[in-house]
Amino acid sequence: MRVLVVEDDAGIAQGLRLALGQQGWAVDCASDLERGWAALRVEPFDAMLLDLGLPDGDGVTLLQRLRQSPARGCPHPEMPVLIMTARDEVASRIVGLDMGADDYLTKPFDAHELAARLRAVCRRAVGRSHPLLRRGTLELDPAARQVRQHGRPVELSAREFGLLLTLMQASPRVLSRQQIETSLYNWDQALESNAIEVHVHHLRRKLGDGLIQTMRGVGYFVPQESAP
Ligand code: CA
Repeated sequence: MRVLVVEDDAGIAQGLRLALGQQGWAVDCASDLERGWAALRVEPFDAMLLDLGLPDGDGVTLLQRLRQSPARGCPHPEMPVLIMTARDEVASRIVGLDMGADDYLTKPFDAHELAARLRAVCRRAVGRSHPLLRRGTLELDPAARQVRQHGRPVELSAREFGLLLTLMQASPRVLSRQQIETSLYNWDQALESNAIEVHVHHLRRKLGDGLIQTMRGVGYFVPQESAP
């Protein structure tokens, strides 16, 4: 899962990058409206964290632009947006929510609460209220970052977990290798050309062959009701 952080305070941005990175998010940061908009137009983010007081204007204008953007070539105009405000900015919080923000946090905030809210808005965005993802005897808990099969925990690396989560959330859609890469890696990370294949191979070894399917020449998918 990939999130764009639009925040001009470098300390806060770096803190978010670290905290969310530890929870398995690929995090990219933009320091103003212009850079934020440029990033939104080219990268398929799963969510955005938006500061309202930015050097070149009010964060709400970026939110408005995003929500009105089907005609302007932004890949995900409906993506979940969390706004970050100071404690006394009640009025701008209301404007933000009315403009289409999904939730808000007041600074200073707790990194764990932030991650939980982010997971919740992303879940609601795909119409899912239950926090666990299940397929056959496999159970994935995005909050605890745990996978169990037949009730027993399965040890996965951070990348393997991220890949499995991405495929389970997209299921039964087929994702191309490039779609998976852009969801797992931020733009600073170089990666080996066969990285995704290697992770898929490891996942199949740990979870069995039935879960992750290959559509030759297209990509990978988790079928709707497969028993791993
Ligand atoms: Ca600010």
